[in-house]
Amino acid sequence: MTQKKLSFIDEVKRRRTFAIISHPDAGKTTLTEKFLLYGGAIRSAGSVKSRRSSKHAVSDWMEIEKQRGISVTSSVLQFEYNNFCINILDTPGHQDFSEDTYRTLMAADSAVMVIDSSKGVEDQTKKLFHVCKMRGIPIFTFINKLDRAGKDPFELLEDIEKVLGIRSYPMNWPIGEGKNFKGVFNRHKKQIEAFGGGNHGQSIAKAVRGDIYDEKFSDLLGSDLHEQIKSEMELLDIAGDDFNLEEILQGNLTPVFFGSALTNFGVEPFLESFLDITMPPKPRESNLGEIDPKSDNFSGFIFKIQANMNSAHRDRIAFLRICSGKFEKGMVVNHVQKNKKIRLAQPQQFLAQDRVIVDNAYPGDIIGIHDPGIFNIGDTLSENQSDLKYQGIPQFAPEHFAKVYTKNALKRKQFLKGITQLSEEGAIQVYRKPNIGVGELIIGVVGVLQFEVLEYRLKNEYGVDLVMERLPYRYIRWVEMDNFDSSTFSITMDTMIVENEEKDPVLLFQNEWSIKTVEERNKGVILREVSLLR
Ligand code: GDP
Repeated sequence: MTQKKLSFIDEVKRRRTFAIISHPDAGKTTLTEKFLLYGGAIRSAGSVKSRRSSKHAVSDWMEIEKQRGISVTSSVLQFEYNNFCINILDTPGHQDFSEDTYRTLMAADSAVMVIDSSKGVEDQTKKLFHVCKMRGIPIFTFINKLDRAGKDPFELLEDIEKVLGIRSYPMNWPIGEGKNFKGVFNRHKKQIEAFGGGNHGQSIAKAVRGDIYDEKFSDLLGSDLHEQIKSEMELLDIAGDDFNLEEILQGNLTPVFFGSALTNFGVEPFLESFLDITMPPKPRESNLGEIDPKSDNFSGFIFKIQANMNSAHRDRIAFLRICSGKFEKGMVVNHVQKNKKIRLAQPQQFLAQDRVIVDNAYPGDIIGIHDPGIFNIGDTLSENQSDLKYQGIPQFAPEHFAKVYTKNALKRKQFLKGITQLSEEGAIQVYRKPNIGVGELIIGVVGVLQFEVLEYRLKNEYGVDLVMERLPYRYIRWVEMDNFDSSTFSITMDTMIVENEEKDPVLLFQNEWSIKTVEERNKGVILREVSLLR
């Protein structure tokens, strides 16, 4: 299909970039796949999953995801729908990787939260939601699996409001449930959308649309269901929150959609309303003030680094979120933090699980850049303004610690290489005790599953058998103090002083009492809970 050439401004306006979060198994992957189906990026449903499990497994260490049935990594996909260009950022479903989720959310302009209608708000939903809330972006809710018996819709809304503490506005309302899930009432358009039989979600679901009082729906839905939806809608109009765009855009009110990703019911109404409500990329904060996406200067920041995505090449990719200007293949940009010029020669984009070389990209898009080891998470790239820096990405405080080393002295080099690599990716935090052996390191992680990933990746990618001894520390504090001297600094028996890679002093505590005591004993010390922005 030949497409009319769009202006730069039009390209920016049609961009929508969102992250998708959920408790494992709520249906994130299925819904993502259906978006691709509706966007025409794949021809029939089922292809993404099957390819994922066969030769297209993105990396061999994703084995760990398969074994445990969780999604460890986040990936990026782009597709087109109704002339919009949409970027989806997938996030890990497990809270142990919430730091990765947060970084991904930094690159997103809104978030979609998928909830299983039979479960309601689950543990991980809660944790991921709070990470989302920290970012202050609009959050959309898709209540999934309406084709199965689930909780009452009113109960589900109450759950969202009580457990998550966010008000909700149902954009549509389910008509029937389980085998009897016949369609939705679209409150915005004030019309019923009754779904046709479909073919188990393989292809796009057809819908009959019309006014709620249209008599044809008595036949299509059955008169009982038709009467029920009419009275439920009257109730909702009286009882519920009002639609308020401003509140939605500020993340204080979540628009809620009901549907079934499996059968495709409700996927299209969701996409349409979502695109209606969300905005193109907004200006972003930087050290030079807000940067308008429509400005001429190409700029963006790295929010994720991932190595060894392809075991045949052992490559390392830095994911860049474009914030302003037009990207052109081969362009030379400033790496602001390193004060260096680099050429973006072979940048990649991720389309329906395929990687392609991209010629042009626009604000809101994510491109993957080959990383020879020069990027850090949070780095800014900018074409003209060589001093432009986007807001840094905070490091989460690790809550689990372990001493790690390898018994095989011949593998020490690989051991250090692997640890450095994973630390640069932001998968672990590395500390050193000033007086312990060179081959011993202290690793901090936010969630214990990260230890498993560390062990697995060191074995599979670097051939290193790791010895890991868990340490009893639970709290970390970054020390701020003039003339810090570890020999005179007073700590409690159960506290340890370590150094980070910049050789700054860091304290590991087992309990809050010790934190207080150390503060009291050392005049002028400030113990920070979060490390300063990178
Ligand atoms: P994820 O872990 O959130 O990515 O969840 P998946 O998309 O992998 O879905 C988990 C399971 O739920 C799979 O067996 C899906 O087939 C199933 N599933 C997803 N969406 C629906 C739905 O709308 N209805 C039903 N009945 N099952 C669904």
